[in-house]
Amino acid sequence: MTKTYAVIGDPIDHSFSPALHNAAFLFLGLDCTYIAYRIPKGELEYGIEALKKINISGFNVTIPHKVDMMKFLDEVDNECKLVGATNTIINENGRLKGYNTDVAGFLDPIKKRNISPKDSDVLLIGAGGAARAIIVGFGKEKVHRITITNRTRERAEELVKFAQGIGLESDYLDLQSAGEIANRYKFVVNATSVGLKGIGCPISTKNISKDSIVYDIVYVPVETPLIEQSKNQGATIIYGWEMLLAQAMKSFEIWTGRPAPYEAMKLTLLGRF
Ligand code: NAP
Repeated sequence: MTKTYAVIGDPIDHSFSPALHNAAFLFLGLDCTYIAYRIPKGELEYGIEALKKINISGFNVTIPHKVDMMKFLDEVDNECKLVGATNTIINENGRLKGYNTDVAGFLDPIKKRNISPKDSDVLLIGAGGAARAIIVGFGKEKVHRITITNRTRERAEELVKFAQGIGLESDYLDLQSAGEIANRYKFVVNATSVGLKGIGCPISTKNISKDSIVYDIVYVPVETPLIEQSKNQGATIIYGWEMLLAQAMKSFEIWTGRPAPYEAMKLTLLGRF
């Protein structure tokens, strides 16, 4: 019987996930299909009931449901617990198990480059949901310190406490100073939405150096202003699409128990840009 998968969220119409997963199913000849299903905020419970009624095999969860979805899970993996959010669900006869593949998805492109984050200093720009998953990821890799900068100071300070709570050294820095001393950090990671559609750069890049690793999780466009400017300074670049692809591959592997077809999924993703 055909297995059905989905991504839920709102808005959902420009999601890359259906194309990515359907390409993988097709490539491996699996009798599976993947749809985008818009569930507005406040309607999550009904949406989940509907998904159970059609016997959904699994689904991805995106904005605005990643945190709220936790309430509806029968079981959660360790990363979900740590981050407090889920993005991948498996449905086993009505029992929902949640995973968070953003953590491993974030780390994957770093590992692919054989870069070790251990004992590094990290400058993290942003304090939203993605930033939490990134902190958990760097926590697993035992970085030395994570400095958090953000437009809204209170949100950054909350995340400083969160990072300290999982055993990391962490402090707050304002955006202006972050640009001034960016060269003191091995990793500079943008987890804000600044740069989306090519508009804006989250910090000044004048002090980014060839020793910096600049990782922008924004993936539209591929070359954000932060990436473009950091490239000109000679920095090592990690692209947002790499994280997007890696977290999708991890979801695919959780659902099917098979290695995800990297090249087919990458071609499909890059073809969409
Ligand atoms: P979120 O929870 O809404 O957080 C948004 C963050 O961006 C906050 O830190 C917010 O600062 C900051 N921000 C928004 N507009 C800003 C502006 N005009 N100036 C300065 N800061 C601004 O979103 P999220 O889920 O963490 O996602 C953040 C970005 O990462 C999105 O673009 C998303 O598409 C991308 N993302 C990519 C991947 C991937 O796989 N590559 C995965 C997840 C997310 P305040 O706290 O001051 O509001």
